[in-house]
Amino acid sequence: MAITSSVPGSVATDSLTHIELTEDFAAHNYHPLRVVISHGEGAWVTDVEGRRYLDCLAGYSALNFGHGHPRLLARAHEQLDRLTLTSRAFYNDQLGPFSRDLADLTGKEMILPMNTGAEAVETAIKVARKWGYLVKGVPENQANIIAMEGNFHGRTTTIVSFSTDSVATAGYAPYTPGFRLVPFGDMAALEAAIDHSTVAVLLEPIQGESGVIIPPEGYLQQVRSLCNRTEVLMVADEIQSGLARTGRTFACDHEDVVPDVYILGKALGGGLYPVSAIAADGDILSVITPGTHGSTFGGNPLAAAIGREVVAMLAEGEFQARAQTLGEVLATGLEPLIGDGIDDVRSRGLWAGVDINPDLTTGRHFCEELMKRGILAKEAHGQTVRLAPPLVATVEDLDLLLEAFRDAVASLS
Ligand code: PLP
Repeated sequence: MAITSSVPGSVATDSLTHIELTEDFAAHNYHPLRVVISHGEGAWVTDVEGRRYLDCLAGYSALNFGHGHPRLLARAHEQLDRLTLTSRAFYNDQLGPFSRDLADLTGKEMILPMNTGAEAVETAIKVARKWGYLVKGVPENQANIIAMEGNFHGRTTTIVSFSTDSVATAGYAPYTPGFRLVPFGDMAALEAAIDHSTVAVLLEPIQGESGVIIPPEGYLQQVRSLCNRTEVLMVADEIQSGLARTGRTFACDHEDVVPDVYILGKALGGGLYPVSAIAADGDILSVITPGTHGSTFGGNPLAAAIGREVVAMLAEGEFQARAQTLGEVLATGLEPLIGDGIDDVRSRGLWAGVDINPDLTTGRHFCEELMKRGILAKEAHGQTVRLAPPLVATVEDLDLLLEAFRDAVASLS
């Protein structure tokens, strides 16, 4: 299915050279599929030999709006020519409007801008701890945060300290204390883990890296009530699940739940630039005072300009609607394969975790089979293939994906 065409301006060397250069000179902290991408437009990318692929990973949902969305590119180009960086030592004319618009989108009073997702998670952890000491009255050094087994919140030393993935944690001890883990979706365990020194429950409303794991219906509502009862902050990491991916602006919206703190990243930068933030009300974010937290690049004019355009696009609702409609096409196409090479499919909006029957092959090998058929996807967790095409994909694109999927499954039996 891969369509061959010559691409003007593509690097005049073959994939192998790039793979060898990368392997020789860049640390091996990833195990990429052997495809070397040089161009992207919308839902499609092109490799150095001119083969085209449907991008069904979409930068782990950073590319919700596709590659090079014209509206985002135009705004970025305009801002690039004007002003890119001031540092927060001075005000700039982009951060205020971006902060107001993102606060509006989240329904919160304030935001705190950072760059990567992990930095935003770190920010939320610091804010929750400080809120615990200053507002809740937790004794100094006693604050604990409850996180979920199977979580993925990033790669910093503190964040991997509460990861349950041994590959992510091995060799990085000593770990940061102050975290407790409970099974995702288990209310009784969560209730039992909370004590007077608990400052936050940190969760992904849907666990992406664990394989698109959706909690039992009503779980987020129950977490919300428990947090209210126990004076604990509900902190939702919507870095992967948020910003239209699931068919709503936030995955929490599916249960009409408003967390105390939203953590946002990935698609907030439109796939052009790292932009992250947390959003919360003033009684929480006011614990941060000058000098107590910061980042050279956080809230820079280029990031703020791009982020504001992203927020404007989300405010129109088109991408949420597309995720909903396209997600139904994807789920309807995948479900008949259950029991026929596929053990399970979990989906919400245009986001699916598909468990490949381990008797047939591994998730990794299945992704290689998909790649041969012009589809780029990546295993999320062993046997699970995560499908998250850009929300600009068309029904025809999804038909190609489903055809490739069926063909890849058939090739295994
Ligand atoms: N939180 C979630 C839910 C994520 O999926 C990710 C990245 O995959 C992160 C945090 C970390 O984001 P970043 O890689 O930008 O640091």
